[in-house]
Amino acid sequence: MNTASMARIIDGKAVAAALRARIAADVATLSYRPGLTVVLVGEDPASQVYVRSKDRAAQAAGIQAHTIRLPASTSEAELLAVIAGLNADPAVDGILVQLPLPAPLRAQPVIDAIDPAKDVDGLHPINAGRLANGLPGLVPCTPLGTMKLLAEAGVALRGARALVLGRSVLVGRPVAALLTNADATVTIAHSRTRDLAAECRRADILVAAVGRAEMVRGDWIAPGAVVIDVGINRLADGSLMGDVAFAEAAAIALAITPVPGGVGPMTIACLLENTVTAAKARRG
Ligand code: NDP
Repeated sequence: MNTASMARIIDGKAVAAALRARIAADVATLSYRPGLTVVLVGEDPASQVYVRSKDRAAQAAGIQAHTIRLPASTSEAELLAVIAGLNADPAVDGILVQLPLPAPLRAQPVIDAIDPAKDVDGLHPINAGRLANGLPGLVPCTPLGTMKLLAEAGVALRGARALVLGRSVLVGRPVAALLTNADATVTIAHSRTRDLAAECRRADILVAAVGRAEMVRGDWIAPGAVVIDVGINRLADGSLMGDVAFAEAAAIALAITPVPGGVGPMTIACLLENTVTAAKARRG
């Protein structure tokens, strides 16, 4: 590969570290410690790792973090009672229920029960609706991190043609709303899209959130495009791979995020930011 034409690598790890340092400095000026409570139901190993890193990162930023661990046998009524207690607790600024929940628990009733003012995952329909309407509110962490990486890369969003690959409530939809609110011209693609490669090739900005390792090939990328790869796919050997074939895409794109070290580290940093945002809004 001709390294002279290699894309700029957007260093999510560095951007996230800088953001976390800014948040810690901000928290240090407050007369209180923002409180974040994470609720973990069951023993899912990946969720346990995520919850531990959220706890560590929050503490490091001066946020008072707690994790409530509940057995997989917890009933919906019991879980809703825990949420109600957190909604009522003035020391709790942010509530995050780690997903996925173990069967047969359903995520939606639990998300619906969280006070929207404490919904630091930004998944409550009130916050999703605010985002869709271009109103201020708590925004899902991974989409927020995606936008911060685009800003860091100096990408001009106004009028740009953006393609969001994926339409999940967690990633694709909120990313598309944020890009729309930033005056990009947004196309949302998904599993029923006709000629996905052609749609991708038209994009100045391509955000991939599919969950399929290396699905987006180099010849799907327009020369000079900026590529944000949200995908985290764990291969049989334990390594992580994005939704974009990195080497191929980096030979064509202007800038690209790596996996790991791209969007992933931004997610937790944005959770901390949301917690501080929620604390300031609640406490005035
Ligand atoms: P979902 O499975 O909820 O959504 C995937 C989307 O991709 C759906 O809209 C689906 O379409 C679409 N899709 C699936 N297969 C195809 C295909 N063959 N062609 C076109 N579109 C397709 O995943 P998430 O949005 O939750 O996550 C996406 C990826 O991002 C995953 O790899 C996940 O691990 C990662 N992720 C990373 C985070 C981070 O911190 N960096 C945080 C959250 C997620 P349809 O709607 O038609 O089914």
